[in-house]
Amino acid sequence: MSIRALYRRMPKSKRVCSYYRCQKELQSNPDFKNGHLYHHGCKMSAEEERYRCLECLNIFDATEASWDVTQKLHGDCVGETIKLMCPYCGSLNLKRLRMPDGKLVECKT
Ligand SMILES: [Zn+2]
Ligand SMILES: [Zn+2]
Repeated sequence: MSIRALYRRMPKSKRVCSYYRCQKELQSNPDFKNGHLYHHGCKMSAEEERYRCLECLNIFDATEASWDVTQKLHGDCVGETIKLMCPYCGSLNLKRLRMPDGKLVECKT
């Protein structure tokens, strides 16, 4: 079955963008990469975002990495820390090479 056919059978709540900085619901015309759904713009941004693993020295982009979200309390604000993981060795020891817009995901105060 093609991913487009799968997408049509998916419940709406599962139609979520796979870019770790977005993770919002997809309305129409999703883009696909490696079996994951993305907004078109998010896929482009994710591909722009590059990392090098300091353990195995592989370079990869944000569509290839997996991630871990931990929530922490900073005063009254719950901050989410998103840690990207190397898709090759699982290391969290990554160096960011390039960001699409220079913004980081941070606690909103
Ligand atoms: Zn998105
Ligand atoms: Zn690695």
